[in-house]
Amino acid sequence: MNASEKCPVCQMETPCDQLKTYHMVCPGCAYHYPLDPAQRIASLVDGDSFTPFPGEFAATNPIELQGYAEKVLQNQAQTSLKEAVVTGTCRIEGQAIVLGVMSFQFMGGSMGSVVGEKITQAMYHAVLHRLPVVLFTASGGARMQEGIFSLMQMAKTASAVALMGKTRTPLFIVLTHPTTGGVTASFAMLGDVIIAEPGALIGFAGPRVIEGTLHQQLPPGFQRSEFQMEKGFLDAIVHRDDLRSTLAFLIKTHPVPSSRTTGHTTDHTDNRTDSRTATPQPGGPNAR
Ligand SMILES: [Zn+2]
Repeated sequence: MNASEKCPVCQMETPCDQLKTYHMVCPGCAYHYPLDPAQRIASLVDGDSFTPFPGEFAATNPIELQGYAEKVLQNQAQTSLKEAVVTGTCRIEGQAIVLGVMSFQFMGGSMGSVVGEKITQAMYHAVLHRLPVVLFTASGGARMQEGIFSLMQMAKTASAVALMGKTRTPLFIVLTHPTTGGVTASFAMLGDVIIAEPGALIGFAGPRVIEGTLHQQLPPGFQRSEFQMEKGFLDAIVHRDDLRSTLAFLIKTHPVPSSRTTGHTTDHTDNRTDSRTATPQPGGPNAR
C-alpha cells in the first residue's frame, strides 16, 4: 500500500506507512491527525496490556427520537465501536491505570447515557482499585438525540470526578481535537492535570456561534490549544511524540494514596499491591 495522506494545514502529502511511524503527525507542520481509540491505545500503552471493561451498555432511545436507534447502528457499523468512548485498564511504562479514549468518529464523540455511564464507572473502578485515570477527550458535546438525559451525564461525570478528588485519586485529562460543549463543561476541565495536543479546538460553543452572537471578529487562533494555554485553561501542550513519556512521568509523580491514608473505604488492605483482585467494599466510596 502506498496510499498517502494530504495534510489539511500545509497540504504536504505523506505516505501512510511513514505517517504511522510519526504517530500520525505531519512532518511538514506538526499537524496532529485525529486518532481512533485503537490507534491511540496502540501508540500509548505497554504492548497488549489494554483490557476493556467487561460488559457493554447499549444506547436506549430515552426521548423516543425518530431515527436515533438507526443512527447508532450506522455509527457502530462505520467505526467498529459500540459507543463514543472506549474504557479499560492498561499499563504505561509498567504502571497500572484506568484509560478512557473518546472517538469523534462515533456521532461526533457526543456524550449520551452510555458515554456518561462508561466514564463514571471507569472513575469508580479507579477509586475502588486505587488507580489513576487517564482520559482522552474528543467531543462535540452532549448528545442532543437523548435530550435532557445527555445533559444529566454532565452532572453525573462531574460528581464522579468529585469522588476522585475526595479519595485523592489522580485524574489526567488529555484534550484532543475537538473537545467542546457538554464534555468541556463537565469532566474534561476537571482534571488534576489538563494536557492538550497542539492545535486542538477546545471550547464550549464553537467560534462561529460566538462570532455570530457577539457580531465581533474573534482573535486569530481563538479556542486553539495554544490560545487556551495562554489564557490559563491548560497545564501543558504536549506533542504526540512526548505524550507517553509525559503521562508516565505524571503517573509516577502522583502516586495514588492507599485507602488507609484517604480513609474513604473500610478496606484494611493496601489495594495498590493487588489492584486486580480488590473488590468494592460495603460502606466504601460508592456507598453514599
Ligand atoms: Zn502539515
